[in-house]
Amino acid sequence: AYHMNPMEHAELKRQVLHACYTKLLPSAEVENPQLVSWSESVAELLNLDPKEFGRPDFPLIFSGASPLVGGLPYAQCYGGHQFGTWAGQLGDGRAITLGELLNSRGERWELQLKGAGKTPYSRSADGLAVLRSSIREFLCSEAMQSLGIPTTRALCLVTTGKHVTRDMFYDGNPKEEPGAIVCRVAQSFLRFGSFQIHGSRRKEDLDIVRALADYTIRHHFPHIENMSKSESLSFKTGEDGHSVVDLTSNKYAAWSVEVAERTASLVASWQGVGFTHGVLNTDNMNVLGLTIDYGPFGFLDAFDPSYTPNTTDLPGRRYCFANQPDIGLWNVAQFTSTLSAAGLIDDKEANYSMERYGTKFMDEYQSIMTRKLGLPKYNKQLISKLLNNMAVDKVDYTIFFRLLSNIKADTSISEDELLVPLKAVLLDIGKERKEAWISWVQAYIQELATSGIPDEQRKAAMDSVNPKFILRNYLCQSAIDAAEQDDYREIRRLLKVMERPYDDQPGMEKYARLPPAWAYRPGVCMLSCSS
Ligand code: AMP
Ligand code: MG
Ligand code: MG
Repeated sequence: AYHMNPMEHAELKRQVLHACYTKLLPSAEVENPQLVSWSESVAELLNLDPKEFGRPDFPLIFSGASPLVGGLPYAQCYGGHQFGTWAGQLGDGRAITLGELLNSRGERWELQLKGAGKTPYSRSADGLAVLRSSIREFLCSEAMQSLGIPTTRALCLVTTGKHVTRDMFYDGNPKEEPGAIVCRVAQSFLRFGSFQIHGSRRKEDLDIVRALADYTIRHHFPHIENMSKSESLSFKTGEDGHSVVDLTSNKYAAWSVEVAERTASLVASWQGVGFTHGVLNTDNMNVLGLTIDYGPFGFLDAFDPSYTPNTTDLPGRRYCFANQPDIGLWNVAQFTSTLSAAGLIDDKEANYSMERYGTKFMDEYQSIMTRKLGLPKYNKQLISKLLNNMAVDKVDYTIFFRLLSNIKADTSISEDELLVPLKAVLLDIGKERKEAWISWVQAYIQELATSGIPDEQRKAAMDSVNPKFILRNYLCQSAIDAAEQDDYREIRRLLKVMERPYDDQPGMEKYARLPPAWAYRPGVCMLSCSS
């Protein structure tokens, strides 16, 4: 991230008015760029022959030094709220779209280089990206996809061979770091802020909000575009006594509700795997409901609702793990307020979108937690007691749920034996805490016994939703440390392991372990908006 001080704001901020994008050419300097790693599944998605990655000009094209034949590169214009404050025009400060590919299934995929040089939106920053954060974005995009969470994808990671200067936050001294570029892939990179920016300017620019909404609905929400023509499409509304809004009469209202609901499902899926985005500004909210912009993100190690991977967000913790559901709603409210200002939806429809965010989030979250515990139905008390216990004893979120499926629905088991399946994560707990856990496990077993689901069947179901392998920050850090010594093997190994997060993968146990002591040393794994 790049945050400007107010002086810079006034003097250096070039405004691109009345436009959604600017055509330009990538301008990052490169010196013998190298292909570090690439994703086979994204290549497949794009119908790219694996041989293409061996082409000598591949690193040149994907560092922006040579053109992608048939492409028409551009950078988008968007703004956003940063940490709750309207920040005006923000991007694309360092992302350049090369063009779109149409695959054999008729899907359109946009290819975008991140870190390929300055754009008219770069403000006073350099338009570049460093290797460490590019590795994190590359690996996490693909890890999230394999976890089943909507996300922008990453085709490949290329080093530029040039150095980039960054202010390292923990000692205050600037540092030279290797430069790199990730090629991101998504059906659309449009953000809440892509709409907000035009709603924030002259009255005439509200027409741009409408034109962009029309474009988005036509290309990315065709079921809504065709809604009025289709008899079969009916929306479930008002079943729980809430206000009823007829979504068939206004396509923008239907769209607004769908954006809200996709955002709600996305955030619920983050909570399920313990993912904390780190910078949930409205310019980092994709209108397709994809996870976008992997910066100072983190997966929970020990369960901690206030976990805040982004040091730039301390001490406020606006974007801590437990705040994400509320922040999602806050962001949806900014989005619907732009649509209202442009006259596309009325207040009732805006409020209804937010209401649907709430309902969708609760439905999804409860269903995810119910499946994580292998329960037949949602049990609020059992789940909140569990999360409370986990927070008190700083229990590892991922390993705990993975071990939980080993508990048997056997009510006759002795108190001594009860905690055996969980002992790897309940290490240093005193007598009193042990009693709290025994009482929780007893209640849990009681629920399992009444459910009647066979142990084996429940274990298989639970293991398919509780990942064994997640991209913990310390794992990224190991790959980064090796890569900074020109050894890229760990990146490739991690990519492979994270492609199958729910499988046991014998021989790969070390990637499923608790963070080692070095991960907690000051300065290690500390993340900020500087990338
Ligand atoms: P973020 O908080 O990561 O979403 O970043 C905020 C905005 O700053 C983004 O929209 C980027 O366009 C821009 N940005 C971040 N880093 C750079 C950079 N090194 N050069 C130019 N723009 C940047
Ligand atoms: Mg960023
Ligand atoms: Mg961003």
